[in-house]
Amino acid sequence: MPTFAEARDLVLNSATPLGVEVVGLLDACGRVLATDQISNWDLPMWDNSAMDGFAVRAQECREGSVLPVVGFLPAGRAATQALEAGSAARILTGAPIPPGSDCVVPFELTQEHHDSIRLLTQPRAGDHIRRKGSDLRVGDRVLAAGTLIRPSEIAIFASLAIAGVPVTRRPQVAILSTGDELLRPGDPLEPGRIFDSNGPALAAAVLEAGGTPIILPIARDDPAALRQQLQQGLRADVLVTSAGVSTGDRDLVRATLAELGAQEVFWKVAIQPGRPMAFAVTEECRIISLPGNPVAALLTFELFVRPALRRMGGHRRPIEATIRATLGESVRPRSDRMTLRRVCLEQIGDQLVATSSGQQATGYVQTLVRADGIALIPVGIDPLPVGTVVEVHPLRKSGDFSGGN
Ligand code: AMP
Ligand code: MG
Repeated sequence: MPTFAEARDLVLNSATPLGVEVVGLLDACGRVLATDQISNWDLPMWDNSAMDGFAVRAQECREGSVLPVVGFLPAGRAATQALEAGSAARILTGAPIPPGSDCVVPFELTQEHHDSIRLLTQPRAGDHIRRKGSDLRVGDRVLAAGTLIRPSEIAIFASLAIAGVPVTRRPQVAILSTGDELLRPGDPLEPGRIFDSNGPALAAAVLEAGGTPIILPIARDDPAALRQQLQQGLRADVLVTSAGVSTGDRDLVRATLAELGAQEVFWKVAIQPGRPMAFAVTEECRIISLPGNPVAALLTFELFVRPALRRMGGHRRPIEATIRATLGESVRPRSDRMTLRRVCLEQIGDQLVATSSGQQATGYVQTLVRADGIALIPVGIDPLPVGTVVEVHPLRKSGDFSGGN
C-alpha cells in the first residue's frame, strides 16, 4: 500500500499539461499562460511626463528664472514642434515630452503669472520623465509560460494591445456518483435512500481547481449500467468516481474499469480517512476512484485530484504549499496510516494553532465544513504533545480562518 506521498506522486506523474487554446482577455483571468509572452514594443512607448507641470530645458533654468509658457500638452497629444529656447510648455502626466525639453517642473514648484512661470527650484535634466522602454523593452520576456493570469497580467496584455491570450486548456473532468442508495435533487425521499452529495460537491471542487466538470447520471450498483457510464466518463481527460471502491459485495467500480481496459496503478493508500481509493489510467484518461463517504471523497479530492488538475491546467506548482501549525491539543497518531485531521486554525501570538474542528469520525461532514485545514499527522506510536509542529493543507485563505468560531 503506497504512502500518501508515493500515491500523490504516482497520480501527479501521470498528469501532463494539456494543449493550448486562445481566449479573450477577460476569459484569461484565472487561467494559466501557455507560452512565454514577449514584449512587442517598448513601454512606455515614448519619454513622457510623470507629473503635471512644465516641460523646460534644465540648462537654461535657475531657481527664480521666469519663462514664458508657450504651449499646452495634455495626455494623448504629442508635440508637433520642438520647445523653443528659453520657454516652458504646460504638460500633463502621461503626455510625451516635447523635443528639445529634458525635464519637467511640477506645478507646485512654480508660481504662475499670466502667461509665464517663475521656478521655485533648480531642475535637473531627466527630472520627472518616464523614459521610453524603462518598464519593458521590445523583445523582453514579459511573462513566463506557467504564470497564473491575474488582473495585473491582464494589464500587460492590454497595454501591449494583445487581445487573444494562449492558455492551457482546462481539464474536462467527468464525475460519476455510484450507488443504489443515491437520489437526485427533486427525487422524493424514500426510506434507506440518501441524496447524492458527492456529485455536486466534487463538481464544485473541479470548478475551483480550474477544470470543467461533466456530471454523469448516477450509476447504480449494476455491472451493465456501471460499465456504460464509466465508458462515457473515459472520454474525458479525467474521470472521478465516488463510492463502490472498497471490498463490499456491491463495490464494482474497479472490476468494471479493468474490464474496460483501464490499468490500475494503485488501490488503497496509507491514509485515514480515504484508504480505499484507487487510481487507474487508460491512454486518454486518468481515473481516480474516491471513497463514497463524503468527507473522505472531498479530502482525497483536495490532496490527489486538485494537484493533478492543476498540473494538467499548466500550473508551475501543482501542489499548493502547506502551512505549519502547532497542535493545540495532544493527538494520538495511527501506527499504520497517516491521519488527515480536520482542524480549525487560529493565530495566537506568533503561533498558528491547530485544534480539532470536532468529531473526526468519517461520517461527520459538519467538521469538514468547520475546518480551516487538513493537518497531516504522520504515522507514529507515541501521542504528539501540545505544541508539536505539523504540516497543514489549508482549506481557506488565512484571512478567512474561523479559528473554530
Ligand atoms: P461505499 O464506498 O459505496 O461503501 O459508500 C460509503 C458511504 O458513502 C455510504 O454510506 C454511502 O451511502 C455514502 N455515499 C456513497 N456515495 C455517496 C454520494 N454520492 N453522496 C453521499 N454519500 C455517498
Ligand atoms: Mg456503495
